[in-house]
Amino acid sequence: MEYLTENYLETQEIGRDLAEEIKKGSRAIVFGLKGDLGAGKTTFLQGFAEGLGIKEKIISPTFVIMNRFNIKGDFKNFYHLDCYRIEKAKEMENLGFEEIINNPKNIVCIEWPEKIKSILPKDMILIKFKILDGDKREIIINYGK
Ligand code: ATP
Ligand code: MG
Repeated sequence: MEYLTENYLETQEIGRDLAEEIKKGSRAIVFGLKGDLGAGKTTFLQGFAEGLGIKEKIISPTFVIMNRFNIKGDFKNFYHLDCYRIEKAKEMENLGFEEIINNPKNIVCIEWPEKIKSILPKDMILIKFKILDGDKREIIINYGK
């Protein structure tokens, strides 16, 4: 996110808003994973899920679009979405997407987020994958964007 302030009060206001936002914990944490086919998005999420304590195998939800897993602790659900086959963001309504990203108990990872650009939260954390040579991959994690 980018801001431009005109005076010190406006800068303080941005700080205050941010703190209140964090305190409320009012929404899900959302990650968007971008990269070509086979770049390693699902592979990354296999490790991510393991890190969350999920024992089930993470496979690509390309056809079902969305998988949900239970997690223990402050967060309750891990949602894995693959929007590759989505043509219109509107299709996500049927899956309860709005509700999912508004629930602070959810961690939501979205492969192919560019397919549903218009409904993505502004504070989504972007993770970019690039295929270099052979098994080499570049991974860029953009916190705060
Ligand atoms: P899709 O857009 O089709 O969902 P994806 O980005 O999810 O693609 P993966 O399903 O994770 O891609 O596939 C990555 C493939 O590349 C796997 O077969 C994996 O074993 C292989 N691979 C080789 N080297 C790497 C690496 N350094 N990191 C991640 N995957 C790698
Ligand atoms: Mg994948």
